[in-house]
Amino acid sequence: MSGNIPSPPPGTRPPPSSDAGVPREVVIRGIAGSPGVAVGPALVVGDTRVGYVRRHVSAGQVDGEIERLLHAVDAAKAHIREVSARLPSGPLDTNAILDAYSAMVGDPMLLDRIEKKIRGDRRCAEWAVAQSCEEIAKLFSPADPNERDAYIVERRHDIEFVCDRLLRELTGDVKLLVPRLDQPMVVIARDLSPADTAGMVREPVIGFITEIGTRTSHTAIMARALEIPAVVGVADALSIVRTGDTIIVDGLKGEVTINPRESTIEDARGRGARHLAFARGLLSARNQPCVTRDGEPVSLKANVELPAEAILALDHGAEGIGLYRTEFIYIDRTQMPTEEEQYELYRAVVEAVAPRPVTLRTFDIGGDKFASSFQLPAEMNPALGLRAVRLALSRPDVFLTQLRAMIRASHHGDLRIMVPMVASVQELREVRRLLGRAMQEVDLAGHPFAKHIPLGIMIEVPSAVVMADVLAREAEFFSIGTNDLIQYTLAIDRGNRSLAPLASPFHPAILRMVRQVTVAANMRGVPVALCGAMASDPLAAVLLVGLGLRELSMEAAAVPEIKEALRRVTTADCERAAEAALALDSPEAVEELIAGTFAPVLFDLLTGSADEPFARSEGVQPAREAFKTIPDQ
Ligand code: PEP
Ligand code: MG
Repeated sequence: MSGNIPSPPPGTRPPPSSDAGVPREVVIRGIAGSPGVAVGPALVVGDTRVGYVRRHVSAGQVDGEIERLLHAVDAAKAHIREVSARLPSGPLDTNAILDAYSAMVGDPMLLDRIEKKIRGDRRCAEWAVAQSCEEIAKLFSPADPNERDAYIVERRHDIEFVCDRLLRELTGDVKLLVPRLDQPMVVIARDLSPADTAGMVREPVIGFITEIGTRTSHTAIMARALEIPAVVGVADALSIVRTGDTIIVDGLKGEVTINPRESTIEDARGRGARHLAFARGLLSARNQPCVTRDGEPVSLKANVELPAEAILALDHGAEGIGLYRTEFIYIDRTQMPTEEEQYELYRAVVEAVAPRPVTLRTFDIGGDKFASSFQLPAEMNPALGLRAVRLALSRPDVFLTQLRAMIRASHHGDLRIMVPMVASVQELREVRRLLGRAMQEVDLAGHPFAKHIPLGIMIEVPSAVVMADVLAREAEFFSIGTNDLIQYTLAIDRGNRSLAPLASPFHPAILRMVRQVTVAANMRGVPVALCGAMASDPLAAVLLVGLGLRELSMEAAAVPEIKEALRRVTTADCERAAEAALALDSPEAVEELIAGTFAPVLFDLLTGSADEPFARSEGVQPAREAFKTIPDQ
């Protein structure tokens, strides 16, 4: 394949042409996966799935199949290590993501499941691997394919990656997806595994486009770490683009331009160069303190789901972990995680981040976060059903196990415990009672632990907002979860894409609630943070500071940008804008006001480019467009 541009796969549609037969410039939209702009010829790569033959094996062959499986696991781990070694050392620890994959490949629960299929059902190793992974992946399939919760979709991709890796080792089809290239190209695929993405380091791949994936997919995270522009979730990209087409990947806008005009290319190249200079500047300042122009410190922390992401948080200059979602350990398994297993995991995170604080959230299962280990009953309205703290209190055995593991991990650093979806003070009291009991149990077992572990709550249902003054008497900290608060306040399912434009964090009802909680917390001297996705948008962040917040927790990658945004504004400016926003009657009016006020100083952050000329009349619209690309994280 080296040196040649592969011919277009059969059955692809020709690029759109104008009447004169000259290819017409076409723009297709996706999700901005990794910022930057690249221009080059397209390389369309085919389906990545590995073929294998389904075979039943005899009793005498079973041990041989298990041996093949274990060999494949070792080889898959070695492959991931090899890819890790090829990565350049940079400000972001991309290897941490690959380490997590290596752990998943060797996960005893997965191997157990596969082994049962080989021994019990007498299937060959390939078949057992594929079937086990399919079963697990199914747990992450939404009932309605149009409803895409980023968390669920990404966990499914993780499983698919692990399956793909094992199958490649078993079948001997171990080549990387991306062939050797002689010239810089934009790779277009249905999906790319993190290892494939990492493998591009040595190849002159200048950008990539995938049909599936979201901003929070690990492939997008890898691309961001490697500074390769990417647009993901581009429906039908494989059938619209042909190998050899000139293409622009605009990872800032989430746009792909096919057959661009010369002037469009020139413009794109300029934007790409400006973005690169700009992004490097931001990252180099990531360890400076986050202080507003008038000297007010704002603490920026990171939201984390996987242990490996703790390192990414530090690499981006976060002051700790403001939200550690523990759901991951309950998902993709049929048996509950043990206390020991959880303890080791929490301990690793706490030690990685020490002396900075880590806020561990107790499991938020139910609603859109499904875990087969709980065997939850089907509900008409899962989001309003047995979810989060309600589920925890209905399963004290499982909850106490988690609390004991967290308590033991408190010995290794600054650990706090946070409870999701608290709707009444009684729930908090019950959690505190169980926490006391769990501490006694840990003590009796002879394990050391911190004398005091702060117990806080998420404020994410309207009743908690209304009762914030009462809850502030007993909670040791608050963290406002706007992802759910918007869902429950505006009565909009957070996974419903068609209603997503209505679920605006700029809705005056949401701003009033944030203000109410902040005032109640301040009155009682209770620390209050916000950890919903809105914190990672520069315009929303300045508004939140204006509403009184001094701690925000967000996707790690957003930390340098938000730091820079807050350094450019004064609290007085933010407060004035927040006061004016609170008096408005629609999300559009609020967004317009905030964009109009702050776009002049934040324009480069909103467009992702240095030296971008700003004209006031143009400022609001791009700023609003930029906001619309914020992921649900
Ligand atoms: C939230 O609801 O805002 C939040 C941060 O929690 P999650 O997204 O995990 O529900
Ligand atoms: Mg929530």
